[in-house]
Amino acid sequence: MKGKTALITGSSQGIGKAIAIKLALLGVNIALNDIESQEQNLKELKSQIEAKGVKTQYFLADVSNLGQTKKMAEDIKREFGGLDILVNNAGITKDRTLAKMTEDEWQKVIDIDLTGVFNVTKSCLPLIISNKGKIVNISSVVGQRGNFGQTNYAAAKAGVIGFTKSLSKEVGKFNVNVNAITPGFIETRLTNKIPLQLKLMIKKLTSLGRFGKPEEVANLVAFLCSDEARFITGAVINIDGGLSI
Ligand code: NAP
Repeated sequence: MKGKTALITGSSQGIGKAIAIKLALLGVNIALNDIESQEQNLKELKSQIEAKGVKTQYFLADVSNLGQTKKMAEDIKREFGGLDILVNNAGITKDRTLAKMTEDEWQKVIDIDLTGVFNVTKSCLPLIISNKGKIVNISSVVGQRGNFGQTNYAAAKAGVIGFTKSLSKEVGKFNVNVNAITPGFIETRLTNKIPLQLKLMIKKLTSLGRFGKPEEVANLVAFLCSDEARFITGAVINIDGGLSI
């Protein structure tokens, strides 16, 4: 994987950051992305990754804005010369039961978690096809099984699975692999918000009895981005400690 270039969206923290670090350790040049409010985190991560001896740059872009994602793809082409790996990781939650959910809470999650995947992939696809690249989309077990208070998030993450399977059929002829992963509960800021009682219940339902670590998700993504995974496409791979059994 040495010398390849990867874009990881929403990579200033959490799972995206762990993926960026893992790929950098494998010699991959890293295009970081997040929104403006995360610029300080991106700067610090850029220095951390540069210390690993790979080229890295960060690109401020809101994935829910197609104009911004198109510009990001152009900037990446200018800066890195091309793109081999795209990891659609940026995502948010706005949890509430449907009875209480506002239109804005619905729309915001769909715009970032689902339309964001369309925008970034659409913008980067010509670069990925040119390099016979790999796309990994971060969905969620919630996209397969649903979850109380997450109709918006579950709909978006289920959409990502359908998107992944359909795109894999379209671009297989170009030797491009497109896969999705469905993490269970992973220790990040996103899951920090979960009340303690509920956390204990989730751990009880998880065969391994704990939340996953961002680095454990990053290991799976790195495998899917490697040549070892070249016959895997259109797959949806669980990484959930046994939660969904
Ligand atoms: P996180 O720590 O909140 O990281 C997500 C990053 O995406 C944040 O830096 C966030 O910035 C950024 N982001 C938000 N809106 C964006 C936008 N419009 N454009 C670009 N970047 C944006 O969350 P995480 O837990 O690492 O989650 C990463 C991915 O894994 C998400 O897609 C999530 O749905 C998925 N996932 C997570 C878990 C879990 O248990 N943690 C489980 C299954 C799936 P702000 O902080 O400023 O919003």
